[in-house]
Amino acid sequence: MDQATKRELLHKDRLRVWHPFTQMKDYARQDHLLIEKAEGIYLYDADGNRYYDTVSSWWVNVHGHGHPRIKQAIARQLEETDHIMFSGFTHRPAIELADKLVGIAPPGLGKAFYSDNGSTAVEVALKMSFQYWRHVGKPRKTKFAFLENSYHGDTLGAVSVGGVELFHATFRPLLFDAFRLPAPRIRQWADGRPTPDAAAQATAEALDAARRLLEASADEIAGLIVEPMIQAAGGMLMHPAEYVAGLRELCTRYGVHLIADEVAVGFGRTGTMFACEHAGVAPDLLCLSKGLTAGMMPLAVTLCTDDIYEAFYDDYETQKTFFHGHSFTGNPLACAVALESLRLFEEERVLDRVRTTAGLLREQARLFESCPHVANVRCLGMVAAFDLVEDPKTGRPYPSAQRRGYNLYLEALKEGLILRPLGDTIYYWLPHCTTAEQLRDIVDRTCRVLDRLGYR
Ligand SMILES: *Cc1c(COP(=O)(O)O)cnc(C)c1O
Repeated sequence: MDQATKRELLHKDRLRVWHPFTQMKDYARQDHLLIEKAEGIYLYDADGNRYYDTVSSWWVNVHGHGHPRIKQAIARQLEETDHIMFSGFTHRPAIELADKLVGIAPPGLGKAFYSDNGSTAVEVALKMSFQYWRHVGKPRKTKFAFLENSYHGDTLGAVSVGGVELFHATFRPLLFDAFRLPAPRIRQWADGRPTPDAAAQATAEALDAARRLLEASADEIAGLIVEPMIQAAGGMLMHPAEYVAGLRELCTRYGVHLIADEVAVGFGRTGTMFACEHAGVAPDLLCLSKGLTAGMMPLAVTLCTDDIYEAFYDDYETQKTFFHGHSFTGNPLACAVALESLRLFEEERVLDRVRTTAGLLREQARLFESCPHVANVRCLGMVAAFDLVEDPKTGRPYPSAQRRGYNLYLEALKEGLILRPLGDTIYYWLPHCTTAEQLRDIVDRTCRVLDRLGYR
C-alpha cells in the first residue's frame, strides 16, 4: 500500500472508528496496526511488515489465516444461498453442523441452538436454564453462580456473571444479582510454579466454597457457569481438571445446571476437542463460538441436554416457547465454514498435531522460568502464559500505571510478534497450524523482547 493511502486510512480510522476494549487516546499518536494481508500464522501490515499472530486474532483462528479449504467452503455455499432466516426455515449446513457437533460433544448434549457470538451463546444458556426451572415447577431457581476472574462476554447477562472487576464494575448497577464463587487460587510465587500439593489444596478449597453455596442456596440457583480449564480473559488462569470434575459432581448432587463456557477453550485449544474432556464430564449446557468457524465467520451455538429441550416441548398454548433469536442465527456461510473446519480436524489429524506442538510449547516455555521478573509460567495445549511481577518472591505486581504489559506489546511489535497482553499477563494462544520451527522462532523473539526490557 502506498504511504498516502495508508495515511488517509489511518486518518479516517481516527476520525470515525471506535475500537473495542481500547482507550482511544492511546492511539492519538500511536497508529493502529493497519493489516493488509493475513496468511497462516502471519499478519502483514500496510508496509509489508510480517507479524506472528500469537493470539490467533483474539483466540478465534484455528487452522491459520486464509486456509484455502475454508475459502472454497464459503464460495461453494455462496453459490447456493446467502443468509436465510432460521425460524420457519432451515438449511443443510445448519442441520449437518448440529448433527456433527452433537456427535463430537461430550455425551448427553442432544440439541443445538444457534446464535452469532460468544456473548449470545452465554445469554442463550442463561435464559434456557432460567426458563427450564419455571417449566419443571421450580420457579424459585432464578439465580446463577459464577467464579471470580471469569469472563463470559460483554452483553449485560454475560456481564452479570462476569468476575473481572476492570471490565465489569462500572456496569454493576445494570446487572442482575448472582453468586460469586472463589476460583482455585493456584498462583505461587516463590519459585514461580505451584507444587502439586498446593494446586490440590487450592482446588479443594474452591470446591468447598462451591459446595457450601449450593448446600445453602441450590433451591434458588438455576445454574453455575464456568470456563473449564482456563479462565482466559481473567488472566489465563488455569486450574486442574479435578476442579471441573468436582463442579460437575456438585451440580448433579444439588440439582443445578452446569454451564460450560467453552467459547474460548473449545475446538482443541487446550489439547482436547473440548476442555471438559480433560475432566471426563459433560455439562448441561455448552457454549461455543470463536474457534467454531476456525475464526473465519461469526457463529455461535449453545448445546443443551435433551432433558432441557424436552421441558420446552409442548403445545403452543402452554407458553413454553423459547422466545430468543438473532437475525443472523445459523448463518449458512458460517455453518458451511464450521463444517469444513471440522472436516479439516479429522482429515489432517489436527488434534494429534496439537498434542505434539503442546509438548514443545511446554518445553520451550521453561526458558521463561528463569527470568527474574517473570512468574507463574503455565501451559495447557496451545496456550502458554506468564506474569510480569515486580517481586517474584511475594508476587507484588508492578504499579498498574507503569503499563508493563502494554509496553511489552509495543516492543514485541518491533520484533514481528503480536503479544497482546492482559494487564501484565503475557500469553500465547497459538493457532493449531503453528509449526515447531515457528514456535521456536516465536519464543526466541519473545526472549529478545524480554532481554531488551530488562526482564531476563
Ligand atoms: C470471548 C469470550 C466470550 C464472548 O464472546 P464474543 O464473541 O466476544 O461475544 C464469552 N466467553 C468466553 C470464555 C470468551 O472468551
